[in-house]
Amino acid sequence: MNTSKKSIWFLTGSQHLYGPETLQQVAENSRKVADSLSENPEIPTAVRWQPVLTGSDEIYQTIRAAEMDDDCVGIICWMHTFSPAKMWIRGLQVLTKPMCHLHTQFFENIPYAQINMDYMNLHQSAHGGREFGHICTKLGLDRKVIVGHWARPQVQSKVGSWARVALGRASERQMKVARFGDNMRKVAVTDGDKVAAQMAFGYEVDGYGVGDLVERINAVSESRVKTLLEEYAETYTLAANVQPGGDRRGNLLVSARNELGIGDFLREGGYTAFTDTFEDLHGLPQLPGLAVQRLMAQGYGFGGEGDWKTAALVRTMKVMGEGLAGGNSFMEDYTYHFEPGNQRVLGSHMLEICPSIAADKPRLECHPLGIGGKADPCRLVFTGGAGPALNASVVDMGDRFRLVLNTVTAHPPAADLPKLPVARVLWETHPDMETGVAAWIYAGGAHHTCYSQNLSAEQLQDYAAMAGIECLLIDRDTRLAEFRRVALG
Ligand code: MN
Repeated sequence: MNTSKKSIWFLTGSQHLYGPETLQQVAENSRKVADSLSENPEIPTAVRWQPVLTGSDEIYQTIRAAEMDDDCVGIICWMHTFSPAKMWIRGLQVLTKPMCHLHTQFFENIPYAQINMDYMNLHQSAHGGREFGHICTKLGLDRKVIVGHWARPQVQSKVGSWARVALGRASERQMKVARFGDNMRKVAVTDGDKVAAQMAFGYEVDGYGVGDLVERINAVSESRVKTLLEEYAETYTLAANVQPGGDRRGNLLVSARNELGIGDFLREGGYTAFTDTFEDLHGLPQLPGLAVQRLMAQGYGFGGEGDWKTAALVRTMKVMGEGLAGGNSFMEDYTYHFEPGNQRVLGSHMLEICPSIAADKPRLECHPLGIGGKADPCRLVFTGGAGPALNASVVDMGDRFRLVLNTVTAHPPAADLPKLPVARVLWETHPDMETGVAAWIYAGGAHHTCYSQNLSAEQLQDYAAMAGIECLLIDRDTRLAEFRRVALG
């Protein structure tokens, strides 16, 4: 997704009552606000000012035009003055893109010595915004309400966080997920209703036989494989057995060929997320590990064992976090450390962790895989960076989708893990191991997640609101008894 081309439209509400001079001032002021937002690099899109809206036809036409514009990912609404909200009903009824209600005022402070009724008539957002909020809530329209003076960095930064979520949501609505093989047999949480998912999220999920992919992989030229091997050597520390002359060098050639073939398949089909399963690898000599890791680092979403919901979520979150420090990766809660006072979760997968979360230079290694009965796969081995992060999981509850979130703090492992041949990250669950893990299990959260170092719980809550799905957050404030009632309610 080319996010630099994308825009948020800035809509200013008013009415004719105040006369042309006031409306002229409203237009000048709102243009200054929109320009200031647009220039802020923390807001990843352009913010496009629109002429002041004073009647229901204009409102309807403007929102309809925003809907029609493929580069517009959302709208910001600001009521500079009072703007009777019956005028907004028809327009808001055609709005499907995310909306941020910026509840601000042009001047930050009350000019005590000068304030008169003219001033008050021009600066009425305090009650104009309430009228607007009333009709949005009455229409059942979820939106982000941001309150504060527009020039303050923390207010603009909130707009930027929301705009990132809107970008993710826009990419999700047009996303295509390719599945090579089906879900892992008999696994419940990775499956679900793909039609209902397309209705809720917008993405489509297309299934392919592994043979379709094998054909594409076999068509990759030797010269492209050779060039990619040079890139590996420049980017990673290569273990001895995958260096030229090493006894697993041939496996690395196969990995490179997998990466190029899967990449070709996805590009040609317009896919930005994919799944595979180690139970169904007919014609593939090894499970794609390195290939999946590198494609994730390029921005593709991925879910193991046919997990299309997590694949789509990883892609959506990668779009939201684009350009920020830290990364987003497919993840699985793997193994526990139950030491009292120092309880941790070791997150990993068989192979497929995205190097965007790496704290160190990844090592490119080749080891046997205990399951699957295929050739030894190559993989990047590294440790995820320390610091705040979160896990997010989308589950199909049968009649609705649920997003489960858990904030965590990642820590450097207390010791080396010399015999663990996969990428890993060690985290502390919030609010504590007993509460956080029990809450996750009560919520029905999956073992697969998207692990994020650069998105906040608030952003993921905004995302759930945009998609119209429910969201359960487990964080430092979670109390288990109360959470359990909500999770099962
Ligand atoms: Mn898994």
